[in-house]
Amino acid sequence: MATKWVYTFGNGKAEGRGEQKELLGGKGANLAEMARLGLPVPAGFTITTELCTEFYKRGKKLPGELTRQVEAALAFVEKAMSKKFGDPKDPLLLSCRSGARSSMPGMMETVLNIGLTSKTIPGIIAKTGNPRFVWDSYRRLMQMYSDVVMEKAAGIEPAEDMGVRRQLERELERVKQAKGCKNDTELTVDDLQALCEAYKQIIQRVLGKSFPDDPMEQLWGGTKAVFQSWNGKRAISYRRIEGIPGHWGTAVNVQAMVFGNMGTSSATGVAFTRNPATGENKFYGEWLINAQGEDVVAGIRTPSPLNEATRPEGNTEPSLEKAMPKVYKQLHAIRDKLDKHFRDMQDIEFTIEEGILYMLQTRTGKRTGPAAVGIAVDMVKSKLIKPEEAVMRVGAGQLDEVLHPVLDPNAEKAAKKLCTGLPAGPGGAAGQVVFTANDAVAWVQQGKQVILVREETNPEDVEGMRAALGILTARGGMTSHAALVARGWGKCCVVGAGDLHVDLAGRTIHMAGETVREGDWISLNGTRGNVYKGKLHMVPGAEDNPNFKQFMAMCDKLRKIGVRANADTPEDAAKARQFGAAGIGLFRTEHMFYGKGAEEPLFKLRKMIHAKSLDERKAALDDLFPHVKADIKATLEAMDGLPVTIRLLDPPLHEFVPQNEDERKRLAGSLGISLEELAKRADALNEVNPMMGHRGVRLGITYPEVSEMQIRAIFEAAAELIKAGRKAMPEIMIPVTCDPKELTNQKKIVERVHDEVAKKFGMKKVPYLFGTMIEIPRAALQAGKMAEVAEFFSFGTNDLTQMTFGFSRDDVGGFVPDYIKNGILPADPFQTLDQSGVGELMKIGIKRGRATRPGLKVGICGEHGGDLESVKFCHRVGMNYVSCSPYRVPIARLAAAKAAVEDTKAAKGKAGSGKKASAKKAPARKK
Ligand code: ADP
Ligand code: MG
Ligand code: MG
Repeated sequence: MATKWVYTFGNGKAEGRGEQKELLGGKGANLAEMARLGLPVPAGFTITTELCTEFYKRGKKLPGELTRQVEAALAFVEKAMSKKFGDPKDPLLLSCRSGARSSMPGMMETVLNIGLTSKTIPGIIAKTGNPRFVWDSYRRLMQMYSDVVMEKAAGIEPAEDMGVRRQLERELERVKQAKGCKNDTELTVDDLQALCEAYKQIIQRVLGKSFPDDPMEQLWGGTKAVFQSWNGKRAISYRRIEGIPGHWGTAVNVQAMVFGNMGTSSATGVAFTRNPATGENKFYGEWLINAQGEDVVAGIRTPSPLNEATRPEGNTEPSLEKAMPKVYKQLHAIRDKLDKHFRDMQDIEFTIEEGILYMLQTRTGKRTGPAAVGIAVDMVKSKLIKPEEAVMRVGAGQLDEVLHPVLDPNAEKAAKKLCTGLPAGPGGAAGQVVFTANDAVAWVQQGKQVILVREETNPEDVEGMRAALGILTARGGMTSHAALVARGWGKCCVVGAGDLHVDLAGRTIHMAGETVREGDWISLNGTRGNVYKGKLHMVPGAEDNPNFKQFMAMCDKLRKIGVRANADTPEDAAKARQFGAAGIGLFRTEHMFYGKGAEEPLFKLRKMIHAKSLDERKAALDDLFPHVKADIKATLEAMDGLPVTIRLLDPPLHEFVPQNEDERKRLAGSLGISLEELAKRADALNEVNPMMGHRGVRLGITYPEVSEMQIRAIFEAAAELIKAGRKAMPEIMIPVTCDPKELTNQKKIVERVHDEVAKKFGMKKVPYLFGTMIEIPRAALQAGKMAEVAEFFSFGTNDLTQMTFGFSRDDVGGFVPDYIKNGILPADPFQTLDQSGVGELMKIGIKRGRATRPGLKVGICGEHGGDLESVKFCHRVGMNYVSCSPYRVPIARLAAAKAAVEDTKAAKGKAGSGKKASAKKAPARKK
């Protein structure tokens, strides 16, 4: 039997179904579904995506068999509509519409009003008595057809702004101007008829071909052109951005035309079953009287609101609710039906022909983050969907959006875009431009809102970055310093805006032919990477939005693994708890030596570093001790008994050597040595490859007193809190280990100091865990032995990735983009965990570790802890928790829930397919 290429729909029936999106494309499948639901859908048929593949296989030729099937389907449509295609008395007209599996709005082509020719035009004029509408439809047909079929599909690439469609549109503009009309609806019958004649000549002149005057030729031309639009430029680049595979193909939908341009009782519109910006359960849409097809979206005229409840401020156009109450009621009933049937917010297209309503499209509507969360929660409440489905529907990016204030989308539409960069930090920000970190801090102290604009940022800019509302850089990628820092803080940030020219000396930036000076307002959309001129209106983020809270509660109920945060200050710790972190997975002791309030401890640390003798060092350490203890204590206190993993000093010491002349003098003076001697001692700390040098546990081996001081600070901080009736649960973590004996070495110090502190405070035991970071491949391989000493592992995947690949994480910007471009790597491994390499090592580490110590607690700290796919991986390999920056905590909670739902689904699938059911519920291991 011949393959079935064509599926009909109409008259309450359909050969296809809503689930057949792969075969019929989204539009075709849903047209079929709407017809089955008994909704008023003009009859038509869908040519399958398989035929599209076949079309390309045959070198852009249609198989002969298709002709027979299309003719049969056309007969079905003619019967349903009681009209014949090409009939000179009462012709059926058709639209030819593209429709891929997942919607690609505006990326492919549609041709309307197919079947208008010199033979059918007089008939339809006589039949309708509405010559104006007929000529209007004909000029639209010519505009679309000449562009889509005769130019684009023919592979003609016109010069900028010289495409045939533009030339025709210019002619329309010219006529409108000559006649003094603002809208095309004001043109007379004669104007339009003359315009059609002019169009024909322009087409002939521009393309050297006459406009086809045969209905069948138009239909096949349209069909082929839609298939060809699958490989049009716009479609290809959209697919690349959205990750839609090129081999999917598009379907073609041929459908009887209905007309919204027949006069004042006709109209066309688009609507959402719920508000796509806020998620509110209110019917929301726009419509235009006497218009066709894409007029609404194209913004040819100001559209009218659908109802009074959603009328935008300042819009005085008549609502459909008031203008055509009966049709509105019918449409509203359809909205309810679709929303319930598809159990999701729908984006619909409709047309009203002389008071009669027709449905032309329905699809899952795109929505903002707040709307996605709101709709998911609402649908669970009204029992339309289960929490499992709600959790799967909300994307990580959408959740992120909820937490950040964003630019008002309407203000964005109207604003002047200055340039585009990479969307590095989410949300929106508006502020006055400053060019240095110091200015940022100073201006903010004066109560101003600023955007820090830099060529690129470096660690010295952090104070300014913290102060600024948003950060904009000309250079750098998604893993650049600015991007990392901004994401960690949840700060709005756009990086790598190549068109941005920063003139630091002149305190100006140049972009898009505009000059922006210090103090001028600009606005950033960090979720999209756009930069706008002026101060745009913002809409607030919603951490205490009830929908958000309820949604997170759903996630927590479903997930199996715990979520902690990386936090170095009591403020971050508080933020982490607010976002639902069940502990701190990484507290970096060195952090107290950076940033605000760090001058004193840093000076003392420097003294320690530059000490020559043990006595000198011990004196400096004693000095440093109270700072370290106070810092740790404040964080333990903020976490109120939740576990806090404290990592001992990690970075290479030379990072702390002072560069500044005054500081060097002060340090030398305090140590009682000459500047030359200081320089000598600093030089001795220099290393060729400090990342793999004298750092982490290696410092603790050489200078046990350095470890000891930190360990004592931890125990005393905890003991003091417990004595005061508070709770504290420190977990001591040794960094950069590669051998179990390093751990036994440090463990001895820990045990001794523990006993001393316990004794000092009159306690039997100060609670703590002892563990290590696994960030060197050898440590993962030695995990079995490591676990004899370590009670927990935390995978430090930043360094583990660096060491496993041998990619310096500070230099990957130079070559990883090429690796991705050449398809060598699927993604930046510092952003998305490399499951097949780094992940293998992690699996080995967990397996060997737990073989020795079944109760071994395993977690991850590092950027990956907040990445969707990486969190899913951590769930699958049986980790107890993931840890990420505070702002990523909700995302990690969502990701963990998604992972659990996918697991259950997969297990059910297995059970269902008759294989041995391994659907035993995994035990919760949130710790
Ligand atoms: P897109 O996928 O870009 O939205 P569509 O195929 O939906 O393209 O068509 C573009 C416009 O033409 C839409 O507004 C649609 O409602 C309208 N349209 C398509 N087919 C018909 C038809 N048979 N009758 C009336 N209007 C139609
Ligand atoms: Mg289109
Ligand atoms: Mg559409």
